[in-house]
Amino acid sequence: MAIIGAILGDISGSQYEFDIIRPKNLDYNTCSLFTKKCRFTDDTIMSIATKVALQKNLPFADTYREFGRKYPYVGYGVMFDEWIKKDSKKAYNSFGNGSAMRCSYIGEFFGNKEDVISFAKKSAECTHNHPEGIKGAVVTAVCIYMARKGASKVEIFEYAKKEYPKEYYRYSVEYSLNKIRSVYQWDVTCQGSVPVAIRCFLESEDYESFLRNAYSLPCDLDTICTIGGGIAEEYYKGISFDVNSILSKYLDEYLYSILKM
Ligand SMILES: [Mg+2]
Repeated sequence: MAIIGAILGDISGSQYEFDIIRPKNLDYNTCSLFTKKCRFTDDTIMSIATKVALQKNLPFADTYREFGRKYPYVGYGVMFDEWIKKDSKKAYNSFGNGSAMRCSYIGEFFGNKEDVISFAKKSAECTHNHPEGIKGAVVTAVCIYMARKGASKVEIFEYAKKEYPKEYYRYSVEYSLNKIRSVYQWDVTCQGSVPVAIRCFLESEDYESFLRNAYSLPCDLDTICTIGGGIAEEYYKGISFDVNSILSKYLDEYLYSILKM
C-alpha cells in the first residue's frame, strides 16, 4: 500500500528534514532510519486526509483544512498554514512539493489511470494550482499506479522522463543520483523534489535502499521519502521493516486507525 510507504518515509526522513540538522558527513548507507528524533509531519497528516476524502467522498479542500486544524504545528509551509486557517482563502498558485507528498492514496485507490490523473489534479488544485504543482501530484500518483500495476522501472523512467526532461529541468529524472548529489541544494518545489524522489526509487533495490538513496542528498528529506516511498512500496510489494510496530510507535491512535481502515 503506497500510503504506508509514504508515511514510513515521512517518519524516517523527519529526523533530517532540514539541511542544517543533517550531519555533513552522514553515513547514509549505515545510519539508523528510525530513531528517537523521528516523528510524523505534515506529509503524514495530509496523506491521511487524502485517504479520508476519497473514502468518504468529501471535498479535498474541506478535508485538508479539517486535518490541518486538528494537527497544527507539524511543519506546514507558511502559505499553506494561512490557507488552512482561513476558509475564504483560495488556491495560491503554489508549486511547492506539498501537492506531491499528499497523493499516495490516489495512486493506490483507483482502478484506472484516467481517474488517478483526474483526482491527483483535483487534490492539487485547491492549493497548488500552478502547472508545476499539479504536475508534481499527477506524476507522483501515476508512478505509484504504474508500480502497483506491475510496470517495469524502464516504463516508469520513460514516463517520468517525458514529464521531467533534462532540457527543461535542473534535477531531471534523467540524471544519475551521483550527478544530482554533486549539485543538489535543499529544495521544496515540486520540480526540485518529484524527479529526484523518482530517481532515488529507480536506483534502489528495495524499500530500505530507496530511503538510503534519499538520505544521500541534502534534501527536504521527509517529503522526498514520502513521495518516493509510495512508489517504492508498490513496486517492491512491501517493506522489510516491522511496519505495524513502527506505525503504532510513531502515530497516535486516531491516525493509526485510519490507516488500518
Ligand atoms: Mg513534512
